[in-house]
Amino acid sequence: MFQFADRIRALPPYLFADVDRRKTKAVARGVDVIDLGVGDPVEPTPSHVVRRLCEAAQDPANHRYPSYIGSLDFREAVARWYKRKAKVELNPKTQVLTLIGAKEGLAHLPWAFVNPGEPVLVPDPGYPVYRNATIMVGGIPFPVPLVEGRGFLPDLSAIPKHVARRAKLWFLNFPSNPTGAVATLDFFEEVVEFARTYGLIAVQDAAYSEITYDGFVHPSFLEAPGALEVGIEIHSLSKTYNMTGWRLGWAAGNEEVLEGLGKVKTNVDSGAFQAVQFAGIAALDGPQEPVKRQRTIYQERRDIVVEGLRDMGLKVFPPKAGCYVWCRVPEGYTSEEFVGKLIEEAGVVTTPGLGFGEGGEGYFRVSLTVPTGRLREAVERMKDLKF
Ligand SMILES: *Cc1c(COP(=O)(O)O)cnc(C)c1O
Repeated sequence: MFQFADRIRALPPYLFADVDRRKTKAVARGVDVIDLGVGDPVEPTPSHVVRRLCEAAQDPANHRYPSYIGSLDFREAVARWYKRKAKVELNPKTQVLTLIGAKEGLAHLPWAFVNPGEPVLVPDPGYPVYRNATIMVGGIPFPVPLVEGRGFLPDLSAIPKHVARRAKLWFLNFPSNPTGAVATLDFFEEVVEFARTYGLIAVQDAAYSEITYDGFVHPSFLEAPGALEVGIEIHSLSKTYNMTGWRLGWAAGNEEVLEGLGKVKTNVDSGAFQAVQFAGIAALDGPQEPVKRQRTIYQERRDIVVEGLRDMGLKVFPPKAGCYVWCRVPEGYTSEEFVGKLIEEAGVVTTPGLGFGEGGEGYFRVSLTVPTGRLREAVERMKDLKF
């Protein structure tokens, strides 16, 4: 009876319906399905962070409307974090904005900077929010292919000049969901150069920058000289501290970009719960042993999955960071067909690459955010598969 607005009808079809249907059917048949589809950590938030929330929730001062740009205390903690991580000096008053999770900031950014019909550069394959948030404001997502032969970094020379000139925003995501690719500081310097040349805003989504393996340290975009002039980094406590349910993140970098995002936020939300921001400070400033432990857990799981997929004869791309393993499907299958086969014949759910854009066709993604024992079992079952 009620028609959705054009902006909703313009969204691409939901690509996981087939996976969901097959999963539901397998569960109904009594199969003990192991879901390696979603990326949501199973380990709890560090206990000192939970304790800080409880304490802060008792204080009536935190029961009132928070500031839409975030409490200065939290923004100062973010500035300290950048100083420790990247030796980058930020003014917490103007160069940091609290977000209700990274997704909130990513989705609101096009509202501030993109007019109908203007292109937005999005990674392909990539997190669907960049593309869909662009569509919702009437912008045109322009997929920038992440090339297998280049370690899934984009080829900037392949971006047409006339598109780059008209584009306002450029979404980047390293470490990458879904490919696990990581960026170098050299690459970020190229990004700054490109953004400057074409006058576009670079937005680096660093949600996985602290989930790294083998001692690898992922650079911050803001370390690249000139980054503060052309863009922002968006970050989140979700993956680093197992806080997906808490909804806390930040945007840091260029003041004008943050001002634009802030203008949208004043009209849409009223900021993150202050008690959650105090807990966030405890996470950022407190002991980082839980983060180290979590890295060790993921690294063990990564090795189990990489080895298992290799034993199956598949071409797998061992990640240096992130919570996922990206893998080629065997010859003769589409990504959806192979994922369907894994569900039906092994009771294991993974994500078909096509769900992340056309550039994801021919690949599937395995999430490491399940208990290690379950992951081991999933790999054992997959190894028995004939294809
Ligand atoms: C999980 C994830 C986020 C984090 O989003 P929150 O809203 O902070 O939970 C951001 N970007 C990507 C690519 C992700 O996979």
